[in-house]
Amino acid sequence: MDPQYVGRLRALHAQFKIPETYAAQTGLPLYEEPDELVETELDFYGREQRLTPGAFAAWQAMQESARADGISLLMLSAYRSVDYQCQILRRKLDAGQSLEQILQVNAAPGFSEHHTGRAIDIGAPECPVLEERFEETTAFAWLQSNAANFGFTLTYPRDNNCGITYEPWHWCFSA
Ligand SMILES: [Zn+2]
Repeated sequence: MDPQYVGRLRALHAQFKIPETYAAQTGLPLYEEPDELVETELDFYGREQRLTPGAFAAWQAMQESARADGISLLMLSAYRSVDYQCQILRRKLDAGQSLEQILQVNAAPGFSEHHTGRAIDIGAPECPVLEERFEETTAFAWLQSNAANFGFTLTYPRDNNCGITYEPWHWCFSA
């Protein structure tokens, strides 16, 4: 891994007072930002999003296949830079949350799979966004049966070892 990137992350972690034991404690890997990103469709909120070319092609194929089965898969969030992850942390700290609370939900900068440009948070029209009951939707059932065919897997299942909340909406593409 690029030593400059690692150094930059170390400085950011010191700024946020993220414990040096974070990586060891969570077991989360360090993720690098990709060299190439492409614009996707606008997300559920009407925001621009980006993915790696491979992940976007796979996402489109998966969405189309789901649509043919009568299932809508909504993109809620895709690529996030390290800078953006820092903004999220800063915003939540400013809103009065503790670092500990925040890190249960948001990975520390460098440790979010969204940095790779291959992870997507997926929603369904009948479900409030980013809520555990996404697991009760037909979209989730469809993903469980079909996502692997398109290279997508659920990264943070229930009772995962990373100390990250169960995220039925978070799926990652690997080539
Ligand atoms: Zn996610």
